[in-house]
Amino acid sequence: MVPEPIFNGPPWIVPRAVYVHVPFCAHRCGYCDFAIAVDRESEMAAYLDALEMEAGRLGGPFPVDTWYVGGGTPSLLPEPLLARLGGLLARWFPLAGGGEATLEANPESFGPQKARLLRGIGFNRVSIGIQSFSQGSLDALTRPHRADASAEAVEVARNAGLAVSADLIFGVPGQDLSGWEADIRRVASLGPSHVSAYGLTYEKGTPLERLARSGKVLPLSDDLEGAMYSLAMDLLPELGFCQYEISNYSRPGSESRHNAVYWANHAYFGIGMGAARYVGGERATNTRDLSDYIRKALAGEPLSRPGERLEGLEAARETLYLNLRRTRGADPLEFPDRTGVDLSRMVNGLGRVIDAGLLEVAPDGCLRLTRRGRLLADTVAGEVLARSGGPA
Ligand code: SF4
Repeated sequence: MVPEPIFNGPPWIVPRAVYVHVPFCAHRCGYCDFAIAVDRESEMAAYLDALEMEAGRLGGPFPVDTWYVGGGTPSLLPEPLLARLGGLLARWFPLAGGGEATLEANPESFGPQKARLLRGIGFNRVSIGIQSFSQGSLDALTRPHRADASAEAVEVARNAGLAVSADLIFGVPGQDLSGWEADIRRVASLGPSHVSAYGLTYEKGTPLERLARSGKVLPLSDDLEGAMYSLAMDLLPELGFCQYEISNYSRPGSESRHNAVYWANHAYFGIGMGAARYVGGERATNTRDLSDYIRKALAGEPLSRPGERLEGLEAARETLYLNLRRTRGADPLEFPDRTGVDLSRMVNGLGRVIDAGLLEVAPDGCLRLTRRGRLLADTVAGEVLARSGGPA
């Protein structure tokens, strides 16, 4: 029987989703600035002990609608540890009937046995880090897998009864528009139910960013990157995938329910090294250091600094910023319910981006990015966070 939650409230206070971070990676890809741990496989078992301690101290069990295990490379965990992870989730975060349970997998560490095991311990979806089918692009990204391993990983997942979300990256040095089109067509031909297509970013301090700064790697022009994003927005819908978020496309009914929680600005649990959580209106992030995380979790010490809480207009701005990631945008009924602020008031201060054709009020009253606005989403986000709801 699913236990009752220990507190009640709306979905932005009481989490119905849990994120678990598994930080291990075989090596660090050149563009990656995630919270990861490289070459630390010997600490995987201790990490599971620490996760169990952290989950057990929350006061649960808490029934949820979604599990999301991200990384890092969760599929790098050996089978006995994956089984422990499944047991931990089932014990402390029992999944409601019909729930969505996703684990991120990379092609080089995912095979039929792991796929069957995942299905057996309650997962029903994998998010596979394909990134590209071109060996040249994979090399430029210093991804560890071979180009031909991705199709096999998708087939393995589908054969095990797991829904597949496929991750692609565009804007890779050396990539051209026809190469990007080939990646999109190839991924669609493999039959995933969901595709994420992200533009490559040069995060400060990453090897790729240093190479670009020293002129050893030539980033693509903004125009070419924009053309690649436009191509994805045109071609993926032609191939049966509706765009429902700035970087996400799905077959009808296969949108990510877990990520929808983030974009609605609803509450979620987050456990593990570097994991963020939003519980009871408070945001906090765990330590990003593996040894520190394991030691503190096992000792029962706090894993994060005291949480932060936004109030009033700042909180409404944050919700609007997140809602605008969805193609349907911010909803005039949902928004005041969530924030206590009328959506029409939030339009004040956004004249510049509306006049520039980046943001619009749709006929159904939703405030959303235009197609051009999706291309310049960072610009709009800056205005929303600084000016929305202010003087007209
Ligand atoms: S596999 Fe993913 S998380 Fe790991 S280093 Fe590469 S990009 Fe980062």
